[in-house]
Amino acid sequence: MLKVLVWNEFRHEKEMENVREIYPEGIHKAIADFLSCEDIQVKTADLSKEECGLTKEALEQTDVLIWWGHAYHHEVPDEIAARVRDAVLEGMGAIFLHSAHHSKPFKLLMGTSCNLSWREDGDKERIWICKPSHPIVQGVGRYLELPHEETYAEPFDIPEPDQTIMIGSYEGSEVFRSGCCFYRGNGKIFYFQPGHETFPTFYEPAVQTIIRNAVYWAAPTYRRKLECPHIEKIQENSI
Ligand code: ZN
Repeated sequence: MLKVLVWNEFRHEKEMENVREIYPEGIHKAIADFLSCEDIQVKTADLSKEECGLTKEALEQTDVLIWWGHAYHHEVPDEIAARVRDAVLEGMGAIFLHSAHHSKPFKLLMGTSCNLSWREDGDKERIWICKPSHPIVQGVGRYLELPHEETYAEPFDIPEPDQTIMIGSYEGSEVFRSGCCFYRGNGKIFYFQPGHETFPTFYEPAVQTIIRNAVYWAAPTYRRKLECPHIEKIQENSI
């Protein structure tokens, strides 16, 4: 049984009628609903919870953390962002969705500004699968289409991904590295670009397939803190 924690700011849904109409119980609830199954146990957390719902214990009990944030990244305390980073370095999986590119934990793990170019006019997006053998894109086909998304465009200031598995394109001919995998310490990280709050992206079957596949891919295979021990030379005849 995989344990997933879906974290969301959960502010736009409370403050904006057009977002609440799409996600009446929050983006985190919509994600939890399609992920929950006999193999995956899902919990949720948001900014309103004590320590943002990201206590040491909560992270220890999480195999994969999913993060959606947009306008309130600054309200996540630095020590909690560092705690998330450290959990990933020890082996917890992490999936950062859409505007989580500017979240504190993602920026800590990348070490760059994570800035990108953007335009919000509801263009159609076509996301091309460029590594069809990758576990995260199984069941998706050559591409997926989203009728409306926010345009995210290059340059995207991230370190070179360990694997770029999807590239998005838009009506204005912009392109963007929409699906990127990174290894940091013992942890696996997946950045996935779709998911603007005013579009029903998280109800799209292909998007749900990709996030579900990403949970299995990012699950820890080896979880412990990497230490820095002094070691003795192995003696030739010691075994
Ligand atoms: Zn957005």
